[in-house]
Formats: sequence, C-alpha cells, structure tokens
Amino acid sequence: MKIIQDYTQKELLELVKPSFRAKQIWGWIYHKYAKSFDEMGNLPKDLKEQLSNEYTLSPLEIVMAQKSSDGSIKYLFRLHDGHTVEAVLLLMRDEEYHEDGAVKHQKRYTVCISSQVGCKVGCAFCLTAKGGFVRNLTAGEIVSQLLVIKRENDIDANRRLNIVYMGMGEPLDNLDNVAKSVAIFADPDGIAISPNRQTISTSGLSAKIEKLGKLDLGVNLAISLHAVDDELREKLMPINKAYNIASIIDAVKQFPVNQRKRVMFEYLVMRDVNDDISAAKKLISLLDGIKAKINLIYFNDFEGSEFKRPTEKSMIEFQDYLNKRGQLCTIRESKGLDISAACGQLREQNI
Ligand code: SAH
Ligand code: SF4
Repeated sequence: MKIIQDYTQKELLELVKPSFRAKQIWGWIYHKYAKSFDEMGNLPKDLKEQLSNEYTLSPLEIVMAQKSSDGSIKYLFRLHDGHTVEAVLLLMRDEEYHEDGAVKHQKRYTVCISSQVGCKVGCAFCLTAKGGFVRNLTAGEIVSQLLVIKRENDIDANRRLNIVYMGMGEPLDNLDNVAKSVAIFADPDGIAISPNRQTISTSGLSAKIEKLGKLDLGVNLAISLHAVDDELREKLMPINKAYNIASIIDAVKQFPVNQRKRVMFEYLVMRDVNDDISAAKKLISLLDGIKAKINLIYFNDFEGSEFKRPTEKSMIEFQDYLNKRGQLCTIRESKGLDISAACGQLREQNI
C-alpha cells in the first residue's frame, strides 16, 4: 500500500486528474486531517474507491501517548511493518490570559520527530543506538507524525509551530526523504511551516551537511557536538572517526544560515566526562567566527547507562563561563523529563 503523504502537492497533481480534485484531496489531508478517503465528501465515489485501493492515509498507529506534568506529550507510533518510532509534542509556553480573560499568548508548541527506525551512528549515550539500525522512514511517515499529533490535540491547521528533527535516527543519513518532508511541511497550501521554523539536528556527517547546504532549503542546522576534542568525541560518537571536529566546523562555516539565525551546537553534558570548564574554554575558540548558539542538555539517565546526569551547579557554571565571554548559551529545559523524553526511551520500554 502506498502512502499518500509521500507525495508533494506537485506530485499529487500529476497523479490525480483533474487538478482541482488533487487540490481537494490535499486540503482533506493537511487541513482537515482526514483518516480515510471515505471522509472526503466532495470526491466522486469511484475516485474514493480507487484511492482507497491504492493508498493509505494512516501510515502510523498510536501505540501509546504519555503526558508529562509540564503538558508535553510523547507518542509511540507503530508503522505498517510493525516497527515503532517516537515523536514528542513539546509545550514550550502555556496559554496566558489578560485580566479580562482574553487570550494574551497562545500556547507555543515544538514537535520533535523521528527520521529513522533506529540509527547507524551508534553514540554511546543514546538509547536509540542500542537497538541498531532498522530502516529509513519515508517522507510520508515523517510528515504523518506531525499530522497525527495535530489531529489528536485539535491543533488548528494554520497554527504556527516549530519542528525539530531530533527524535530517533540521523536525519542526514536519510537526506532525500528528510528534504522531501521539509518541502511538504513548508507547502503554503498545507501545513505551511516555513523551513526557518524547522531544525535539522545531526551528529555531524560533514559531507552531508555540505550536501544539505547545497540544497539550500532554508532550514536551521543543529550540530550534536558533545565533546571538544576528537579523542573523547570518538569514544562518545564513533562517527567522529570518519568526520572529525575540524571537518564539522568547516562544513558549518560553508552552510547557508538565515541572517537572523544561528547554528545551534548541542552539548549533552555528562557528569565528570565533559562538564569541566576547560571544555567550555575550548568551545569558545572552536566556535570562533561562527554565529553559534550553544544549547546545554542534561544527560537523561536510563537503566544500564554508563553515564550520569550532571549537577545543576556544573551546568550553570559552564553556561556562565560562556555567556560572560559573549557566547550565547542556554540550558535546555528538561521538558517531559518524567516521561523520559530523551529519544528512544519510550520505545525501549515497550519492545
Ligand atoms: N541523530 C541526530 C538527531 C537525533 S538525536 C543527532 O544526534 O543530532 C537528538 C538529540 O538527543 C541529540 O542531541 C542527542 O545527543 C540527544 N540525546 C541522545 N541520548 C540522550 C540522553 N540519554 N539524554 C539526553 N539527550 C540525549
Ligand atoms: Fe543516532 Fe543521534 Fe542517537 Fe547518535 S544521538 S545514535 S546520531 S539518534
């Protein structure tokens, strides 16, 4: 069965004639979150039948949804072949009201999505890596994660939100499908989330960062750096043997960054491994000449893990050191910590 969300609007226009029918179907998928072709009331019966025989609208089934005390919700989805992936709806800011009860600020959401079942990169601290690599997700399977989350939470079709490719898998190891999903998300007649609200996070496949840059999609780039010297980085992230820190920095310098944006460097902090101030010092020189923002992440513990969560004190000292030297640095709030929101953790409990 083919997945209808695998097609861009342009491709759907080739597939279904006359073109106004294709546009109606597009609207049913992306604005009305239709679950079946039968629901598409304004389509002729035989077209609905023909589509139902060939295509599915629901490539994902919810296995589980876990709500965290901060309002974030983590989803476990089953794909048509039985494998599972995760996505998380992160509530970044709750609704705020004026005194008269009128809405002052709407809720602000970020959706974290997966790009692969498992991952080939094999980072030592990552639970996704433990299950090995199974397969790439198709563009439609990537897009559907967001669609199902919007449908389940009654989020308006035209509602702005941010997308981060920070779930399971290495997005640049599945670049074609990820690039296609970026375009489908951005389609102004559909979900309409501009690429500058989409962030692709990578473990640092330098050659693919270059390739992504050449595609000039307008997406934001996040680099999972986690270590400032090659020796430690190789231990944490074996991919560093193929693409060392210098090659990543080079690739980032070539990357087309939106003038108002910065490249995000994620730094997963593990106690007594990479939380020393000497690392912060090295970060400053490493990122010299790059419009960068550093995001410190608390290591999220899991059973059998060889690493430990850092102390709050060491996080703040690390951040202060950088901020005082003019390097923008934030500490990622541990959204959904009580539902083990770090990638791979929900899936691991259930397989
Ligand atoms: N493969 C890509 C994107 C998915 S991983 C990448 O590595 O960038 C997304 C983020 O989750 C990465 O920054 C990764 O370091 C982080 N992560 C993995 N395991 C974690 C854990 N146990 N605790 C906290 N964050 C973790
Ligand atoms: Fe893959 Fe990212 Fe996990 Fe590393 S941190 S194993 S690249 S998903």
